[in-house]
Amino acid sequence: MVKGIIVLLESQNGELKRSSREAIGYAYRLSQQLDNTPVYGYLYKLEELNMDSIKANAKGLNKIFVLNSRQKHYEFKSAWEGLKHIIDSTGSTHIVSANSNFARLIAPLAAVHIQAPLISTILQDARKEDQYLLITRSVYSGKAEATVKIPVDRGIHLIMPNAVEPAEADATPEVELLDIPAPVSWKIEKVEKAEGKVPLTEAQVVVSGGRGMKGPENWYLLEELAEELGAALACSKPVTDMGWRPHSEHVGQTGLTIRPTVYFAIGISGAIQHMAGVNGSKYIIAINKDPEAPIFKYASYGIVGDLFEVVPKLTEAIRKFKKAREKS
Ligand code: FAD
Repeated sequence: MVKGIIVLLESQNGELKRSSREAIGYAYRLSQQLDNTPVYGYLYKLEELNMDSIKANAKGLNKIFVLNSRQKHYEFKSAWEGLKHIIDSTGSTHIVSANSNFARLIAPLAAVHIQAPLISTILQDARKEDQYLLITRSVYSGKAEATVKIPVDRGIHLIMPNAVEPAEADATPEVELLDIPAPVSWKIEKVEKAEGKVPLTEAQVVVSGGRGMKGPENWYLLEELAEELGAALACSKPVTDMGWRPHSEHVGQTGLTIRPTVYFAIGISGAIQHMAGVNGSKYIIAINKDPEAPIFKYASYGIVGDLFEVVPKLTEAIRKFKKAREKS
């Protein structure tokens, strides 16, 4: 019998990230298939937290364990000490998390500790069938889906953003502060913080630019469009390699994998390595002056034209549309 499920939680600006709410939803629905086994949250505290809001957004958990990191950055050894403590004290054998950097840091340790299979890039809720769980995941850089079968008693589940729904549950979790030594194993010398108002991996709409933008001085065009749409900014690899944009915005095979509802690819050719990070988007809207550009093979909507003409017109049209909607 499964004794518990642990969800790795992450915060941003003191609030629970949407991707963590999705992980809670996955774990909650998994627990319902496993005789309502308890679901615990683990929050490695890096900043001041709005605990009332976090608790309200963490319905579906029975309890949240909070470990104060005593520093501002993820520190793998102390983060792992906290998780190990919760695994050992609750007897939990399932760990659920967003497919984030934090999870990729400590989930493999948990997999070894509890001798569990680690399934990453999950696209759907797990389904119990007899003594197994069926889990659908993205493979071959998003070009295919595979359903894997693992024994029902243990597993590490890392979920893609915007793939599953948050929990629909009533009970608010209690909170327990962990008081365990947090050893420090490395010294962080430099931190590059992601810019932008909307976190890229969480965003429903993303405006992305490629080499066709010609230079960083033209990015204001994408910033204005993103502002109107409440979107996050992203870019192709050459753009960050040339230092036009920060690495935190690089999407693709060697960058972030995102799954927004709408992805605007502007001045991006659509190379296979770029698409590996964005082809889970629900709609791709391409703006490119070359009608033969590969991006049009993936695009739900495409505009063949010079982005320096098209983007300002698009931004203006959206602005007008929003104003008209406000008035009506
Ligand atoms: P380009 O291919 O140069 O495309 C620019 C596009 O802009 C063209 O289609 C052009 O028609 C259009 N354009 C130009 N001017 C205008 C205009 N005025 N109006 C409208 N359109 C215009 N790439 C990634 O993005 N992410 C990765 O993670 C990644 N990983 C890689 C890993 C490996 C191992 C390798 C080998 C490559 C990787 N790449 C990655 C690079 C990838 O192969 C492409 O080279 C890159 O994606 C191209 O970037 P781009 O589309 O911005 O530039």
